[in-house]
Amino acid sequence: MHQTEKAPVGRFAPTPSGRMHLGNVFAALIAWLSVKSRGGYLVLRMEDLDTQRTSGEFADLLRSDLRWLGLDWDLETDPQSQRSAVYDQYFQKLEQMGLLYPCYCTRSQLHSVNAPHLSDGTYVYAGTCRNLTEAQKAAFGRAPAWRVKVPDRIWTVEDLAQGTYTENLLSDCGDFVVRRADGVYVYQLAVTVDDGEAGVTEVVRGMDLLSSAPRQMYLQELFGFQHPAYGHVPMLLAPDGRRLSKRDKDMDLGFLQAHTTPEALLGLLGYACGILDTQQPISARELATEFSWNKLKPQDIYLDISSLL
Ligand code: GLU
Repeated sequence: MHQTEKAPVGRFAPTPSGRMHLGNVFAALIAWLSVKSRGGYLVLRMEDLDTQRTSGEFADLLRSDLRWLGLDWDLETDPQSQRSAVYDQYFQKLEQMGLLYPCYCTRSQLHSVNAPHLSDGTYVYAGTCRNLTEAQKAAFGRAPAWRVKVPDRIWTVEDLAQGTYTENLLSDCGDFVVRRADGVYVYQLAVTVDDGEAGVTEVVRGMDLLSSAPRQMYLQELFGFQHPAYGHVPMLLAPDGRRLSKRDKDMDLGFLQAHTTPEALLGLLGYACGILDTQQPISARELATEFSWNKLKPQDIYLDISSLL
């Protein structure tokens, strides 16, 4: 690292809604390797905005799973469920900029009226509620969600793993919700505030979140945060092509801890994603000396855990 270059700050931001599965492990591993291979820091944050699905027990299990893997963190910031007063301040900034408006569309209207989003299976919001009159708003008689207006502008993500990704927020996404009708802030706003306030310089996470990056870059600009570097790592697939998920019990860390060692698991992951030339047991620290973004395969990674069992 160059003398004047600041140490990178990465983060791992899991949702504690279940036991860690291999997909989360892989995202955490690459986030950790990327900063630790360059003398940087890792921030841990529990994304528990959805208080129905998340729990403190799962958060404890996540921490112990990370420790088992040897993926330590330098700081844990407050969980999102405790930060709504902070998010209020950023919401008010958007309001003061005149960028927010209330949206009364129902879920079924949203999916029937709007065209599908480019890449993530949601919709492009056509701006239905952008210009409601005060009388129209009052007539709904219920609490609205709040949307932020987006500009007609192309956003470019130079992704460390995926290369260049571009999106015009107006035509590919539309004005998006920042606070739900029940008052809960949405992921896009919370993650932007939390990463920005923690001084995160690189965001490494699963490829399924690549299309969220332009929305977050837009909010970063409005809130006055620097853009972090992005690295969206490939998804892990079972040998039959299924995407590994929380439903695959045999891929969760409870099962894996009973059947294998952290070194064997890291050796398999390191080999499958291209960091290692051969599959051999290895610690996280040793793997950090082998890591470089150039080695990482950008595409889906097939993982056969049978060699571990
Ligand atoms: N909380 C998200 C998850 O567990 C990750 C969000 C992020 O890394 O930005 O999938």
